[in-house]
Amino acid sequence: MAIRKKLTILGSGSAGLTAAIYAARANLEPLVVQGLQAGGQLTITTDVENFPGFPEGIQGPELMEQLHKQAERFGTQFIYDNAESVDLSRRPFVVRTSAEEILTDTLLICTGASAKLLGLESESKLMGHGVSACATCDGFFFKDKVVFVVGGGDTALEEAMFLTRFATSVTVVHRRDQFRASAIMVERAKKNEKVKFILDTVVEDIENVEKGEVTGIKLRNLKTKEVTLHAADGVFVAIGHKPNTELFRDQIELTENGYIVTNGVKTSVHGVFAAGDVQDELYRQAITAAGTGCAAALEAQWLLESEEGGQSEAGKSEATVKQVAMRQSG
Ligand SMILES: Cc1cc2nc3c(=O)[nH]c(=O)nc-3n(C[C@H](O)[C@H](O)[C@H](O)COP(=O)(O)OP(=O)(O)OC[C@H]3O[C@@H](n4cnc5c(N)ncnc54)[C@H](O)[C@@H]3O)c2cc1C
Repeated sequence: MAIRKKLTILGSGSAGLTAAIYAARANLEPLVVQGLQAGGQLTITTDVENFPGFPEGIQGPELMEQLHKQAERFGTQFIYDNAESVDLSRRPFVVRTSAEEILTDTLLICTGASAKLLGLESESKLMGHGVSACATCDGFFFKDKVVFVVGGGDTALEEAMFLTRFATSVTVVHRRDQFRASAIMVERAKKNEKVKFILDTVVEDIENVEKGEVTGIKLRNLKTKEVTLHAADGVFVAIGHKPNTELFRDQIELTENGYIVTNGVKTSVHGVFAAGDVQDELYRQAITAAGTGCAAALEAQWLLESEEGGQSEAGKSEATVKQVAMRQSG
């Protein structure tokens, strides 16, 4: 028999779990379809030092466990599975996992975006131990260190420039001799004394898995086939992100890069909201994901209330504006 829900959340990263906390505390008894990466991207990193509230920092998996417990405490239900298909053509929306069919009045899409990785075993083993996919998140850990950035797009060069604030040297490794990045970014990076370039080159391996830290990077020149080993303290993989939106293609409006188009957190389908990295190509931080998760839960709650109480959404927004104005006037 199908599970019947007022509010269902797809994804259990910062966005999904924050949405769950808000929805559960509004007595909406939310269901979270966690996906196969329960806890989301932060579960593959170590120290998180920029999530407010943790002056000493917190380990990524521990932070996500705390958010999970907080959501559970207020009555969130969890399913550990992927959503395999959705039907957003009418309400209630239909979500299918391998074992369940869920009918839901509102749907919050928080399926995130995965950093594209090189696919090396050493890369996954050293992720959070010198290998990173996020300079904004981890740059600070590389003060006076030697780092490499892999990639040739705008993001790679932006990350390289950002890392020069901390590292003594930043080497950009790119598999072609031309950059995909804009000419102005390339020019800016070339002018920076700390940035070096190794072109026509791919990463063969990252050392040292046995030691549990990055000590070097093995590179292969695609033209000469020469393999060289370079001392390194950190490797930043900046070859792009892939939003997890395949499931929604042709049912909801997506950007040309596959991110969900949102107005606030509203999507092109009435009753479907999106939060976190799945709709955010720019900031991609745990706290911005949590913020939009909160907003998505509130929007869904207000929509459900307006439908239950016969109050139009416009009426609800108007009432909310009035409440805020009253609070501000004292
Ligand atoms: C190595 C690394 C280090 C980072 N460090 C920091 C940091 O220090 N500070 C910081 O602020 N940010 C950091 N980030 C970025 C941060 O992790 C993301 O911005 C944040 O996790 C986004 O949260 P989200 O909820 O939008 O998505 P995600 O965390 O990506 O979660 C997506 C969720 O969706 C689920 N899912 C996917 N497909 C489906 C499906 N079909 N059905 C159901 N569920 C599905 C997944 O299982 C997962 O639970 C880091 C990222 C990486 C990769």
